[in-house]
Amino acid sequence: MAKKIITPEETERQDNYMRRVLDRNSALKRRPTACIKTFGCQMNEHDSEKLAGMAERMGYEIVPDEAAGKYNGRFCDLVVLNTCCVRENAEEKIFGHIGALKGAKHEYPGLLTAVCGCMTEQKHIYDDINSKFRNVDIVFGTHDIYRFPEFVYKAVFTGKRVCVPPGSGDEIPEGLPIKRDSDFKAWVTVMYGCNNFCTYCVVPYVRGRERSRNKDDILREVESLALSGVREITLLGQNVNSYGRDINSGTDFAGLLGEICDRVQGSGLRRIRFMTSHPKDLSDRLIDVMASRPEICAQLHLPVQSGSTEVLRRMNRRYTKEQYISLVDKIRSRIPGIALSTDIITGFPGETEEDFAETLDLVKRVRYDAAFTFIYSPRVGTPAASYPDQVPPEVVHERFDRLLELQNGICRELNEACVGKTFSVLCEGVSRTCDTRLTGRTESNKVVNFTASPPYDVSDGSLAGRFADVYIENAQTWSLEGRAVNWRL
Ligand code: SAH
Ligand code: SF4
Repeated sequence: MAKKIITPEETERQDNYMRRVLDRNSALKRRPTACIKTFGCQMNEHDSEKLAGMAERMGYEIVPDEAAGKYNGRFCDLVVLNTCCVRENAEEKIFGHIGALKGAKHEYPGLLTAVCGCMTEQKHIYDDINSKFRNVDIVFGTHDIYRFPEFVYKAVFTGKRVCVPPGSGDEIPEGLPIKRDSDFKAWVTVMYGCNNFCTYCVVPYVRGRERSRNKDDILREVESLALSGVREITLLGQNVNSYGRDINSGTDFAGLLGEICDRVQGSGLRRIRFMTSHPKDLSDRLIDVMASRPEICAQLHLPVQSGSTEVLRRMNRRYTKEQYISLVDKIRSRIPGIALSTDIITGFPGETEEDFAETLDLVKRVRYDAAFTFIYSPRVGTPAASYPDQVPPEVVHERFDRLLELQNGICRELNEACVGKTFSVLCEGVSRTCDTRLTGRTESNKVVNFTASPPYDVSDGSLAGRFADVYIENAQTWSLEGRAVNWRL
């Protein structure tokens, strides 16, 4: 399938809209503010960085997201909700926020509200917002993100609502301005969309089919990040292992990783991560590249979803429990000590107590460093939503609690085994929960809160983005505690 990239003419059109909004905003007495509130996954976080980049070019000051459209006691001029629809509770939360912004608009009619992202890619939600939430000025889906300047321009200059129905286009947006949240950690998209159609999942419907970015565009982005002092990148895609299949680039994901490592050699960019890997597509070539390149972190997110082969079959995951476990064994034998994390759904339709016992058994055998556990949530339009035998909520919750208890115990044991060892930690700044400590992550992605001793000072902002060797003194379930014994400046 040919890949569509936004044409230079379209880019020029959007640049013109940006300039016109910028002119208008520059003429205002004070700089208008924009707040972008993100729900959901890393893909959305990265999309929000692009929305922030465009808003900044339009003259808005990007401010942190505070409740109900306010920042520092004053209403924002533009509030963007970048939404998620993977589970129902995300959608409910977002409707709550949209409702709260109704009052804000009433008090400050200058407030522009935009709702975008995965939720508005669903026709029924789009219709709902259109008809019930007239306070929303701009509605668009994931596919139209690059047209944000056009939508803001139209809303600002005509005062009319701008609503773009879902399902238009499958362009790859190259060259958008990006305002990154961090100076030293960055997301890099390698592909968009998903072709897997797991029967519970709405992602393929709202993110479209797989579209790989051109290898050269990716390499250019990585090189410029390395040049600007970024220390760690995470390559993003719903299933990175499919990279390149749709564009006949002659490169698969393992090949792409190898080339990225070559490009960053000798720079300060020391860590490369990626997510997500579908177990059915994880190749030996990828394991080889991971094993041989020190820049690639010994850490892998490998969602299993269930330990029951029968449930996996009905989820359309296309691997069995045994195949998954042998894959884990193979990875561990090639990359000893690799940290593994996973996603698990409890209460998939028809899940029996025996199926659930298989999940507990798998978790005990694999001993994940981290597991993201979810209660099954029926999604409109997905096959599983109409499967018979939906599991009663009280049964699901009870299973969910048992799974969490098991995983928490494993996390604590694995963390306790880190006590007395020293790890290289990428410092991210002062801990949000304790201002006398720094926080950062190990190569295995474990959170470490740590102290620094003179001449280094916790309040010294320049320590963020530097690597410290941290001696681990204490273990919590979700984090480690220690002290920096050496800084690599
Ligand atoms: N492409 C990635 C991420 C998909 S969404 C992957 O395949 O892993 C992230 C996680 O949300 C999924 O791994 C799954 O565990 C969970 N999820 C997706 N749909 C869900 C649903 N309907 N109910 C509960 N959890 C769901
Ligand atoms: Fe959803 Fe499955 Fe695609 Fe992941 S691989 S995004 S779970 S359909």
